[in-house]
Amino acid sequence: MNKLAKRAWFAYFLAAAMFVGLIVILVRYAVSAPDWITNYAVGAPDRVRFRNDMVVDRSGTMLMDYTDEKSELADDEAVRAAMIHILGDTQGNIPSYMLNAYAGEMSGYDRLTGIRHVDGSYGKMQLTVSAFAQKAAVNAFGDQKGTIGVYNYKTGEILCMVSFPNYDPHNMPDIADDPDAYDGVYVNRFLHSAYTPGSTFKLVTAAAALAEIDDIKDRTFHCEGSALIGDEVVICNHSHGDIGFNEALCQSCNVAFAHIAQELGAERLSKYADRIGIGSSLSFDGFITKKGNFDLSSATTFEAAWAGVGQYTDQINLCQYMTFVGAIANGGEAALPYLVENVRFGTEIQYQAERKTGGRILDPQVAADLADMMHYNVANNYHVYVGDCFVGAKSGTAERGAGLNPDALFAGFVRSEEYPLAFVVIVEGGGEGSTTCAPIIQQVLDACIVAIDS
Ligand SMILES: [Zn+2]
Repeated sequence: MNKLAKRAWFAYFLAAAMFVGLIVILVRYAVSAPDWITNYAVGAPDRVRFRNDMVVDRSGTMLMDYTDEKSELADDEAVRAAMIHILGDTQGNIPSYMLNAYAGEMSGYDRLTGIRHVDGSYGKMQLTVSAFAQKAAVNAFGDQKGTIGVYNYKTGEILCMVSFPNYDPHNMPDIADDPDAYDGVYVNRFLHSAYTPGSTFKLVTAAAALAEIDDIKDRTFHCEGSALIGDEVVICNHSHGDIGFNEALCQSCNVAFAHIAQELGAERLSKYADRIGIGSSLSFDGFITKKGNFDLSSATTFEAAWAGVGQYTDQINLCQYMTFVGAIANGGEAALPYLVENVRFGTEIQYQAERKTGGRILDPQVAADLADMMHYNVANNYHVYVGDCFVGAKSGTAERGAGLNPDALFAGFVRSEEYPLAFVVIVEGGGEGSTTCAPIIQQVLDACIVAIDS
């Protein structure tokens, strides 16, 4: 090849590289420009000055107002505290995942003409949560640590989501001065934590048993308060004697469920835990939930059975588990949760939520049978009422290790056309699941019903 030809090829190469680079920049601009121009980033409180937007709850109650150079939060102290893990803070301790995700829509930024603040228009985000229900959760929880969530399993709207501890951003406490009281205060425990499920996990084992063991509903188990499984002993909360499948869930018999888990075996249990999404995360409105864990790859016979009872290395994320409970109530398939209903700029709708489903995770008959069993629990044990509605639930008491009080968990649903709600609550160190959690969920459900009716 002579010198001239080499130079020509080099020129072609340069031209091609510039062309590809130009395309990359244009594509990145088209996709990301709104995020570049408006960043509510962590540690950048100064940027607040450039904002011109507000956030309201499902009924229009102001949660955050940054229009006309204001910087205000909700009037009610409890609502301000309940909202910090959703809205983030301006000190940069709690990221504003959601506001960042919709920064472009909130600013009304236009890729061709730039930002349009000139006509006095501002961004307005409407959330699905109810300030009234958020406040009810704060009042019901008191000083306890943990988290609570309630959502509509037919539409996906989250009506209540609060993580404890929290604080009123207008009266910032001295967190370093009381590290125990504010342990993990910057974490949204509902979305970004995973917990040992304890007996609430018996719902997963029961779902697998209903699908895989033909005569499970007619089986009788025998519990003498403990049983040797593999080479270790499973301890039960009582000596239940002869006990059927339905009663075993109602009385939360560890011996019966360890035998059921053993019969299902590690492979089938893992298949159902996967299908239900225990080890997967959900992603919505800028949030990505923490993955749970169900790993029996190196489990002994005892450990696999112990996992079927909700212990061993089991971990659940409460938001993900709430959608599972919603699917039980809704015939095996539930809507995926979300928080942002819509975003407007001026009169224009920039974003409108759409209902999405997580797909079928349970056979309709399995879901119906399990819902009946959970309703039987409520009728016999828990006493959570929503008018005449069909309510189902399962409690859990999750061991955390020597010297620590167990965590109290409660997961359930209201099966109703008017109030199709699924709920999950955990009180860390709260002891027995139903005793601690049922009164909390009752108060919050009552508030959610008011929010739906109003
Ligand atoms: Zn038992």
